[in-house]
Amino acid sequence: MTPPKTPHADNVVRGPGHGSTSGSLRHGAPDEARPSRAEAEEAVRTLIRWAGDDPTREGLVGTPDRVVRSYEEFFAGYEIDPVDILQRTFEETDGYDEMVILRDIRLESYCEHHMVPIIGKAHVAYLPRHRVVGISKLARLVEAYAKRLQIQEKMTAQIANTIDEVLQPEGVAVVIEAQHQCMTTRGVHKTGVTMVTSRMLGAFRTDPSTRREFLSMIGNPSSRGE
Ligand SMILES: [Zn+2]
Repeated sequence: MTPPKTPHADNVVRGPGHGSTSGSLRHGAPDEARPSRAEAEEAVRTLIRWAGDDPTREGLVGTPDRVVRSYEEFFAGYEIDPVDILQRTFEETDGYDEMVILRDIRLESYCEHHMVPIIGKAHVAYLPRHRVVGISKLARLVEAYAKRLQIQEKMTAQIANTIDEVLQPEGVAVVIEAQHQCMTTRGVHKTGVTMVTSRMLGAFRTDPSTRREFLSMIGNPSSRGE
């Protein structure tokens, strides 16, 4: 069966350079909708001045360049097609039909409301139906959605939905536990608060014992601290 090519229309319109056709944006011709690197650096100088400092002083001269380079890493997910990551699958599984879990995947994302980090971990599981995917691909998929401006709820759903649509397994489960720096370093200044989100599809949603098995294997994040 042929998985849909890019079902996430809503996922790829958010950022400046995005989707499967944007691979050339970083090194190639400037996109009309995307500001130039010089404009991005100028925006950083504006923010430095707005914060109350002098962008021409020695310690800050190279900062706009470094910030823009950092942004290329922080938001590298816009350059990745999440569907593409899961296209190469293995069908010789000798009938393996038990749960596949990748747990404690380091997650670095960025809150779309404050543009500060969301740091945590993701746990991803699926119940294969005929096809499995290399485990590094699941980690890559998490990264493809994390390295964007995000909210945790949407990111959780996007990861689960993509696995569901491309691999078409018996079920998918995604749990993300993360701390939001917009909550720890500003606003209410509450440290040690972890937000837990989950999306269960197929057997993980309909079969309580499957869900329990998954949750116990990842250490039951939703009941921790009780
Ligand atoms: Zn925020």
